[in-house]
Amino acid sequence: MMNRRQFVCTGAAALFAHVPKARAATYDLLIKGGRVIDPSAGLDAIRDVAIAGGKIVAVEANIAGDAPQTIDARGKIVAPGLIDIHTHAGRSKEGPALLLQDGVTGWVDAGSAGADNIDQIATVARTGPQVGRALVNIARTGVISPAGELHDMNVANVALAQGAIARHRDVVVGVKARLSENVADANDLEALRRAQEAAAPFNLPVMIHIGQSYSNGILDDKGRLFPDVAAARRRGVIFDFGNGTLDHFDWATVERATKQGFWPDTISTDWNVMSKTTGVVDFPNVMSKFIMFGMPLSHIIACATVNAARVFPSFDDRGTLNVGAPADVAILELREGTFEFLDNYKGTRTGSQRLFPAATVLAGKQVQRG
Ligand SMILES: [Zn+2]
Repeated sequence: MMNRRQFVCTGAAALFAHVPKARAATYDLLIKGGRVIDPSAGLDAIRDVAIAGGKIVAVEANIAGDAPQTIDARGKIVAPGLIDIHTHAGRSKEGPALLLQDGVTGWVDAGSAGADNIDQIATVARTGPQVGRALVNIARTGVISPAGELHDMNVANVALAQGAIARHRDVVVGVKARLSENVADANDLEALRRAQEAAAPFNLPVMIHIGQSYSNGILDDKGRLFPDVAAARRRGVIFDFGNGTLDHFDWATVERATKQGFWPDTISTDWNVMSKTTGVVDFPNVMSKFIMFGMPLSHIIACATVNAARVFPSFDDRGTLNVGAPADVAILELREGTFEFLDNYKGTRTGSQRLFPAATVLAGKQVQRG
C-alpha cells in the first residue's frame, strides 16, 4: 500500500529524472564505488562520495553529476582521513607530508618536546599540510632517548610547562609524561601528578605511557586485567594502543587483554620519520594487527578516526565523512595474503589481511604520491 507521502516523493523523483544534464550537480571531486566505512555514521556500504569547496557534500549510492576529477575506489575502502594521536611528526619538517602519504590527515606529536624545545615542534605543526597538534612533555627537555628524561625530577617543572602551553595555545592540546621504568624509574606517579597540575588550569588532558612502568601496567602478575583499569575507562580515561618501536607492547599482552574483552579506544603509531623500517611501517599496518586479533574492521577504523577525533577538540569536525565535514579521506586497500607483523620484542605473528594506504584526499584535493 502506498500512502500519500510516498506517492509525493515518487512523483518528485520522476520529475527530477527529466532535468537536463547541464543542470546536474557539479562537484570538485568524486570518489566512486568504494566500500565506505564511516563509523561516525554507522555506515559500511558501497557508496560514492562527492566533494565540493573542500567539504563532503554527498555520500550516496551512484551519485550523478560531473566533476573534473574522479577517483575509482572500486575494491577499496573509503574511510575518513586517519587521525594519529601518538606520533613524533613534529620532530622534522618532512614528517607531516610523509604521514599524509599513509592516509593521516591529522596528527598529534606526543611529547617530543618540553618547555625548552616546544617552539620548533609548534612551528612544524603550524606549517604542515594537515592539522597538527602537540602535547608538551612534562620534562622540560622533552624525550631523551634512550637514557630517559624523568630520572632527575628537577626537569619536571610545572611552571615552565604551563608557560609553554600559554605560548602555544593554538597548537598544544595536552601534556605528556612517559612513565616507563627506563624513563622515570620510581618517579612515575610524581611525574603524573605534575603533568596533571600543569594541565589543570587549561583544562587539557594528560597522556601517559603505561606498560613497563615501575608501578604497574594494565595486567596483574597472572595476566588478569586490574579492575581499576575498567573503572578508569568508565570514568572516561581513554586507552590508546601506541605501537612504538621499543618496549610498549608484546603479543602476549595484546592477546591477554583482548581475550578479556579489553580493546583499545584509539589506535596510534608512535610514528617518526624512521618508522617505515620498524614494526610500525605505517598507520594502516598498525591497524591491521588488530584485524589479526579479531577486532571488527569498522571498530578498528573507528579507533583511527572518530574515536581519535573525540579525544582532542581540535579534531571536532574530523574523523567523519558527514556532509559538511572537511573533505579529508583515506582510501585504503585491504589485501588478502600472508603478512608478518612485529611486536617490540622481535615477536612475529602472521595475519591473512593487511590494510595498505592507497590514496589520500586532504581538504578536497587528492594528495600526490611521494
Ligand atoms: Zn612516543
